[in-house]
Amino acid sequence: MLVENKFIPIGKVIKMNYFDMNNNQQTTLVTRRSGKKIITKKICIHNNGNLLSFPIGERNWLLNPLNNRVASWHECINESGSIIAIPWGEEAYHANTYKGNNESYSIEVCERNFNLVYPKAVKRVAELLFLNKWDVSEVTTHKAYSGKNCPSMLLPIWDSFISDIKIELDKLKEVKIMYETSTWAIEAQKWNMDNGISSGDYPKNLVTREEIWVMNKRVYELAKKDAIDEIVRRIKDED
Ligand SMILES: [Zn+2]
Repeated sequence: MLVENKFIPIGKVIKMNYFDMNNNQQTTLVTRRSGKKIITKKICIHNNGNLLSFPIGERNWLLNPLNNRVASWHECINESGSIIAIPWGEEAYHANTYKGNNESYSIEVCERNFNLVYPKAVKRVAELLFLNKWDVSEVTTHKAYSGKNCPSMLLPIWDSFISDIKIELDKLKEVKIMYETSTWAIEAQKWNMDNGISSGDYPKNLVTREEIWVMNKRVYELAKKDAIDEIVRRIKDED
């Protein structure tokens, strides 16, 4: 899935228009990306609250002077990919609480074409959990932080959303096991590599007959060399 970094600028650079007490339009500079570092402990799920918009539109809205809310987000996803506006490990203003903004990575799940977006969101969240070695218990909601009815389309099906993420996460873990050497074979793998018998790559791949022929010959040559070394050592001892 396409994940694009399109970070918004750090600091007070975004123009925001508002009306003062006399109903005169004013412009002020605000930031939706403070640059403040946070320790990310959770993934906080939102719906974007708009049946028409898509990630690049949401990203551009963060810089639009007509947008008079300070709110921001880290990542926004739809059926064709996701855009990251604020990087992992930085504060975004998405949860309406200090705690939420300071401990979670926010994902806005687009409501347009929701049935197509849903499986992409499941996969993306599973991927982030896998990369962080986290479990599904680290996935939370805007509602859990502030009480707001968000993600409004996912809350009614939250349990199945989480179990679908878990299925994807388990698949990723299985793939990892497929490419990892089993603990009982690690010592032999190292011996094969140290002695030039095998490169030690692709531990779970099948071996061909010609590969066995070459490895047999290498083991034989190694044994022969060891035997000769042993004889030489004994002769030297006798001297
Ligand atoms: Zn929300």
